[in-house]
Amino acid sequence: MCGIVGYKGKQQPKEILIEGLKNLEYRGYDSSGIALKDGNEIQVIRSVGKISCLEEKVNSEKLLDARMGIAHTRWATHGVPSVENAHPHRVGKVTLVHNGIIENASELKEKLLKEGVVFNSETDTEVACAVINKYYEGDAVKAINKAIKELKGSYAFCIFFEDSDKLYAVRKDSPLIVGYGDDEIYVASDIAAIINYTNQYSLLEENEVCEIDKDVKVTLNGKKVKKEILTATISADSKDKCGYEHYMLKEIMEEPVVLEKTLKPYVDNLDKLPDLTEYEEIHIVACGSAMYAGMIGKTLIEENANLRVTVEVASEYRYKKVIYDRKTLVILISQSGETADTIAAMRKAKMAGIETLAIVNVVGSTIARESGSQIFIEAGPEIAVATTKAYMLQVAILSLLAYKAALSSGLDDKNVMAEIKKIPRMVREILDRRDDYLEIAKAIYKREDIFFIGRKIDYAVSMEGSLKLKEVSYIHSEAYQAGELKHGTISLVDDGTPVISIITDKDIREKTISNVQEVKARGAKCIIISNEEITGYDHLIQVPEMSNFFQPLVVVPCLQLIAYEVAKLRGCDIDKPKNLAKSVTVE
Ligand code: GLU
Repeated sequence: MCGIVGYKGKQQPKEILIEGLKNLEYRGYDSSGIALKDGNEIQVIRSVGKISCLEEKVNSEKLLDARMGIAHTRWATHGVPSVENAHPHRVGKVTLVHNGIIENASELKEKLLKEGVVFNSETDTEVACAVINKYYEGDAVKAINKAIKELKGSYAFCIFFEDSDKLYAVRKDSPLIVGYGDDEIYVASDIAAIINYTNQYSLLEENEVCEIDKDVKVTLNGKKVKKEILTATISADSKDKCGYEHYMLKEIMEEPVVLEKTLKPYVDNLDKLPDLTEYEEIHIVACGSAMYAGMIGKTLIEENANLRVTVEVASEYRYKKVIYDRKTLVILISQSGETADTIAAMRKAKMAGIETLAIVNVVGSTIARESGSQIFIEAGPEIAVATTKAYMLQVAILSLLAYKAALSSGLDDKNVMAEIKKIPRMVREILDRRDDYLEIAKAIYKREDIFFIGRKIDYAVSMEGSLKLKEVSYIHSEAYQAGELKHGTISLVDDGTPVISIITDKDIREKTISNVQEVKARGAKCIIISNEEITGYDHLIQVPEMSNFFQPLVVVPCLQLIAYEVAKLRGCDIDKPKNLAKSVTVE
């Protein structure tokens, strides 16, 4: 969830650590800290708030002449965001940063308290630090190995020991990589943190202990492991805002380009995609927006290929009873490929002998590596916490899978393929209508409740529209099946309540319009997004009419830009909404 950066080399690490944290800030950012080490001296500086607050603090202090350091940006799980709870933590000879959750921390803490250990924070991390310290008798690798046997939960640790000049790293269920520079070694949660310095890196596998001196030595249970060196394909400038005011806007504007890149391999060539009709049942398992992308996939696959699909929230799926009594494919969707709950769901399916397919952005991520097969979206790095372009690409891939399944089930409509080529241009046209979205945003941004309604695929799309608005503008909003609103929630609609209705499915268009009438009669401000001209309401955004497979792709950008403009008018921190983190690597 948070970000970790570690450095050992020939430079004073301050700049590298702070810049690395800034690059990782999108993952979690309620507090942060660094620790520097020079000989036996260790200096820890921590701060609440953004990395810029830490940077100010670091710049105002006299720093050790260090050549080694660790840094952390925190997304609190145990204890409020405070200086005391911020990482790095230090117990005895051990100083470390941690990403993840130690599930048996309270149990371990009780024992350690009895042994006389004094704790200065409420975190699970400090407990882990104390466990490692307990086992440390001069052999760091041995202490780490003993400690991780006791720790339950997830962790990525970057550690140093007071009387050693080496840097250590170990992980389980939380990502961590080692980067190789010129006589310099880096540790980071992901390559984005260190891409300005190196694109050469290795992935640490579960419980491999990495010992960094001039070189890197990796062992698993004491046995040496040879690491493959990979070359990252992201470039340093992909983290640039390119003149846009926010990453969210930049990433929405990139949608035509990334759609083109992602769809290209499949134009006139669907052979590369799996045929879902080989299965009797599909489970789409994901979290947040990825799960809502799954809802679109479900509607398209069921409607067009007559195939049973369930969409499940990964945090539920991993613990619930799942009945695998038919030939099932589990599709996992995760931008980062590191979503903890989705990883657990994938492992559950694999344990049951079920085939898994991942739709993922990050090559080399846990889900990409462990799933049975993969479809990569070509979103490139997505920095804004609220996903936009990656969600679009997830929808696009699911639409292609649905189209292929429909062809296998007897659909005879080759026009759809021709349409695929036009999608990037059509999305670009939708994006160009910024004034329309701003006008709607101005009409609704002062309200505290907003409703989205739609039926079938339009309902699936509206769920993401509602989530996006909530995430970035902090306005309470809900998505409802248009016909369901009157069974209770319509009591919340009164004079001026904005209701955004998505009406693209022709078969039930009239039904949804009746529902719009119902809210209009109660004073709602009615905003319609439709592929037809529907008049008589407050605002209409008319999108091009497309085949049902790709219709959502021209509606989603409208919703994303409305959410963006509303958040901007409300003065929200658009790229880093409060309480959220990008890559949810904790349960
Ligand atoms: N569980 C740790 C804490 O609350 C680490 C959270 C994180 O991954 O940022 O401090």
